[in-house]
Amino acid sequence: MLLGQVKLTIVSDGVFWLDGGAHFGIVPRVLWEPLIVPDDRHRVPMGLNCLLIESAGKRILVDTGLGDRLSAKRREMLNLERDRGLVGALEQVAVAAEDIDIVINTHLHADHCGGNTHLNEHRQAVPTFPRAEYWIQRLEWADARYPNERTKGTYFSENLVPLEEHGQLRLLYGDTPVTEEVRCMVTRGHTRAHQSVVIRSQGQTAIYLGDVAPWKENIERLAWTPAGDVEPLDTIETKRALQQWALEEEVLLIFEHDPRITAGYLRQHGDKLEVEPVNLE
Ligand SMILES: [Zn+2]
Repeated sequence: MLLGQVKLTIVSDGVFWLDGGAHFGIVPRVLWEPLIVPDDRHRVPMGLNCLLIESAGKRILVDTGLGDRLSAKRREMLNLERDRGLVGALEQVAVAAEDIDIVINTHLHADHCGGNTHLNEHRQAVPTFPRAEYWIQRLEWADARYPNERTKGTYFSENLVPLEEHGQLRLLYGDTPVTEEVRCMVTRGHTRAHQSVVIRSQGQTAIYLGDVAPWKENIERLAWTPAGDVEPLDTIETKRALQQWALEEEVLLIFEHDPRITAGYLRQHGDKLEVEPVNLE
């Protein structure tokens, strides 16, 4: 779709299945089960909706999915369903890996940066997007390079180190403009330096939320935050501000993991907030 003069395209890396408790956090299954039926291993589907932004002559890719270096064990655990993967999805819209100018990672959990790198013919991990500069918050980089017991299961050095080795890493110090129409905005909570991407053109605004609100219910309901959030109370305050802004300025919300919708507008009905879906294909 066109948002003013900016072209936005969802490019999917597939769908994976995550423990329902991990996704819904403190919300008990009896409350979330009516939304989606979990599989027999208590898992719910999670989209891998990456975003291609074409602005001011630049091709910008936000997040890179799970990539193709998963071990058999992780692939089984995640029940990854995929037809063509992210690079295939880009090719489908006539964009080659070499055409990407900038990759922005919202954060460095493995389902957001797994496709940053791929294995070359010598089985070495190298950047998937050979011309791209990869834009990552400095504090997120530090947290990912020195993980703790709680985070080490999702921060993997092979998604990161090759970017630095190939001189393609750009560390950001907080909110940063990308083009005149696109900017990175820190939205802390899920991680300490999680960032979202704001697009603004000709009076219209959109935000790619990342894991601030992976599904629409996560922005409709403040207490619904994933179990993996490192600062859940900060997530709530970040979401409170985003809710207000989305309502006042009619901001198009783009969801990275919602398996049912890719985008929508927040609407108020009495004391309830609901997302009205928009098809962003
Ligand atoms: Zn995620």
